[in-house]
Amino acid sequence: MSRIACKFGGSSLADSRQFLKVRDILEKDSRRSIVVVSAPGKRHSSEAKLTDLLYLCYDLSRKGMSIDSSFSLIRDRFLEIERELDLGATLAEELEAFRQQILKGVTRDFIASRGEYFSGRLMAKFLKAEFIDPKDGIFFDAAGRLDPKSYETLGRLLVDEKSKRYVVPGFYGADVHGDIKTFSRGGSDISGAIAARAAKAEVYENWTDVSGLLMADPRIVENPHPLDIVSYREIRELTYMGASVFHDEAIAPVREAGIPINIRNTNKPGDEGTNIVSKLPEVTQYDIAGVAGKKNFSMFSLEKSMMNKEVGFARRFLEVFENNRVSIEHCPSSIDSMSVVVASEEMGDKAEAIREEIQRVLQPDNLEVEHELSLIAVVGEGMARQVGMASRVFKALAESKVNVRIIDQGASELNIIVGVANSDYEKAIRSLYTEMIRTA
Ligand code: ASP
Repeated sequence: MSRIACKFGGSSLADSRQFLKVRDILEKDSRRSIVVVSAPGKRHSSEAKLTDLLYLCYDLSRKGMSIDSSFSLIRDRFLEIERELDLGATLAEELEAFRQQILKGVTRDFIASRGEYFSGRLMAKFLKAEFIDPKDGIFFDAAGRLDPKSYETLGRLLVDEKSKRYVVPGFYGADVHGDIKTFSRGGSDISGAIAARAAKAEVYENWTDVSGLLMADPRIVENPHPLDIVSYREIRELTYMGASVFHDEAIAPVREAGIPINIRNTNKPGDEGTNIVSKLPEVTQYDIAGVAGKKNFSMFSLEKSMMNKEVGFARRFLEVFENNRVSIEHCPSSIDSMSVVVASEEMGDKAEAIREEIQRVLQPDNLEVEHELSLIAVVGEGMARQVGMASRVFKALAESKVNVRIIDQGASELNIIVGVANSDYEKAIRSLYTEMIRTA
């Protein structure tokens, strides 16, 4: 039978009203039989996320301080949902046992995972579905990476039976010792992708509080267009370059299996949302998928005449960064000059040490280090097919008087990356967006 895996994020599970919306969504399509849940999120902006409260309990208990007030917020959230949905009063006792466990000392990951665990227990009861504990199906290897055997193990638990529904808590699995281990923050998206692949789902629906992805950051661009369709490759570039909504590690499990992702809005279930697919249709509405960027990069630029004749020059330059354990983001170069761009935060206070080592090892004619740079990517598979895309990018920047410090285009021609001063970041994003969504 064809099945759909649905992951519901924290805002889709924030209270009993949201649980009711989830049930309505599931009942609209009988293929929606795999349900992956986050921990309840905020009900309003001033409230704490349940997962944050759990981390707080861990920190407080380690310092020997009282967890009472934080824990009661957690307990009240769960008990309120249980009561309002008439699910009987069974969770109070388990929550008390959990409180005792925190006081006795359990791991940080175990504590954090209980947000999803109890959310899943409530949802399973509410939907009369089978509860699957991911500790029995999702595994990490000794290096802390997802063990691919998880697809098969979890798949065996998600037996494909007519009208049978499963609830799987997101965010965690078991390590090689069988102890609970969580993914990084926002990791329920990854669990959803794993469950979709394990169940050989037709689609992975990711239900959030927005009607899909936008073509630019709405904090910078007013009312950016929503994206109806985008490729895995484009989404990977966009999320890497700072666009949020979807965890970037959640792409691989479904991409490898060719399962499309559909990002949907629990509060507006009629909206089609964004489809993330492996192959775009021939004609798409816009030439680009979006504009995204990140601030705070540093660039080391050196010049040395005839450097192209010195065998191993580039390697020795890059090795300086490796020796200082700083990873490289970009590396634009020309005949007699070469630059390396790194994230300033990752470099920390090593800039001077790196500069000295470059000077000593490579003896450049000139070496400059610039900080407070932003990188902006204009992303779109269509860019390779279109003549004049680069000239539009630079025209837009020139017209808004933004000085371009870095130009980089990946071999894939999937994006054009420009570097500008941090102070020009917002202006550059706005002008690029306006120019690039203009249809010819
Ligand atoms: N609850 C976890 C977090 O807040 C995981 C998730 O919601 O995806 O990071």
